[in-house]
Amino acid sequence: MDHISHLEKMRQYFDSGITKPYAFRKEQLQKLKRSILSHEQDLYDALYADLKKSPEETWVTETGMVISELNAAIKDLKSWMEPERVATNLLNLPSGSKVLKEPLGVVLIIGPWNYPFQLLINPLIGAIAAGNCVVLKPSEFATATEMVMKKIIEAVFPPEYIFYVQGNGAVVVPAMMNNFSFDHVFYTGSTAVGKIIYKMAAERLVPVTLELGGKSPCVVEEDANINVAARRIAVTKFSNVGQMCVAPDYVLVHASKKEALLAALKKSIQQFFGDKPEESYSYGKIINEKQFNRVIGYLQQGTIEYGGRFDKSTLFIEPTILTDIQPGAAVMSDEIFGPILPVISFTTKEEAMQIIRQHPNPLAFYVFTSSGTRENDWLNSVAFGGGCVNNASWHLTNHHLPFGGRGFSGSGNYHGKYSFETFSHKKAVMKTPTWFDPAIKYPPFKGKLKLFKWVIR
Ligand code: NAD
Repeated sequence: MDHISHLEKMRQYFDSGITKPYAFRKEQLQKLKRSILSHEQDLYDALYADLKKSPEETWVTETGMVISELNAAIKDLKSWMEPERVATNLLNLPSGSKVLKEPLGVVLIIGPWNYPFQLLINPLIGAIAAGNCVVLKPSEFATATEMVMKKIIEAVFPPEYIFYVQGNGAVVVPAMMNNFSFDHVFYTGSTAVGKIIYKMAAERLVPVTLELGGKSPCVVEEDANINVAARRIAVTKFSNVGQMCVAPDYVLVHASKKEALLAALKKSIQQFFGDKPEESYSYGKIINEKQFNRVIGYLQQGTIEYGGRFDKSTLFIEPTILTDIQPGAAVMSDEIFGPILPVISFTTKEEAMQIIRQHPNPLAFYVFTSSGTRENDWLNSVAFGGGCVNNASWHLTNHHLPFGGRGFSGSGNYHGKYSFETFSHKKAVMKTPTWFDPAIKYPPFKGKLKLFKWVIR
């Protein structure tokens, strides 16, 4: 059967109403959790094969994140689904008002390869919790993880409910989106493909959530705790070999602390990965040759302060610090998405802001400072998706915070209750009693202006 007739079957399945009751949704979330946990070892093996992630890193950044999202959804689903009573304005009294949370229908979720499990399954949790049918399109580049996820999904869900579609995204996704009106598309990936998705969705007025990338700056102020800053920047930047959407893309350090920060960063990298990161249990690899070739191209675009070695046969690139970046270099215009950290000094905030403004709306922003005034000043100056003070990337692991970008780094957000809301329609309902029906509301209106001005103000 071709995809489109299958999607029509999914629409019928949704229209039957089977996915709507609380009991059904909760049961599916529990099934998903059981299926994931029964494939825990397969996921460790697959993520090692695709990205050389250790089981520990896999738990923290992939499986564990998903399990904690599932636990939160299972625990709180009932309260999320409750109709929300809201106040009613004077004009409409004695009516009552409420907001119902309604599933959207058949939704499409498209994932990238860098956190291939978490970034496909976390949105799925929100979509199931909200009562939708879901088409899941994993990235074709994390091949081992893609196969395990297929098993996890197909072991517990019929394809009319959750449909797992593999293949080349540039072929498979347009074939579906141009011939079927999804009720929502949730896309995580590059900004370039995000634009293609947005255009296709616009043709059919399909709402979208776009979780895109970009250059996320990290500012280190003169009053920062430099050792802590270096450790926290390095652990995030070199986790998954820099292939992280919220990795600090580049560091802007106050000139008075540049040397101290460079020394502390080198020390941290040494402590984390030793002299031979290629042999480190805790250091991964680049996903494929295409990405490898792109990333090593940046190594010549400045002075290598630390690292710089690479090995194509194992897709290894050493954690690298770059200074004295050449003017106009691609490493400062592209999203790096690899283990190369440009460190640039500034003396005034305006100087730093000029660099940040070249890449509007970063997905993440980090500032290291011990001053509350400086912290607020930075947070108010940069229009970013989400971020941290004196930390990097950990905001995304707190499901009580909405996760998403703005503008160039995306639109919409998810995690925890925000995922449920992303995949729900807020249906506004007003109920008006019939025992009170004053004539003032009906024509003729002549002479009623004064009263209307009193009621509507
Ligand atoms: P990508 O855009 O190449 O691919 C993402 C998905 O889109 C894949 O499933 C792919 O099959 C599909 N796709 C590719 N071409 C397509 C096309 N022409 N039409 C429709 N679908 C298509 O992204 P990627 O390389 O997998 O991921 C890296 C990028 O994603 C980086 O920019 C990174 O910052 C970003 N990212 C963002 C987040 C976030 O949460 N905001 C998370 C991870 C990655």
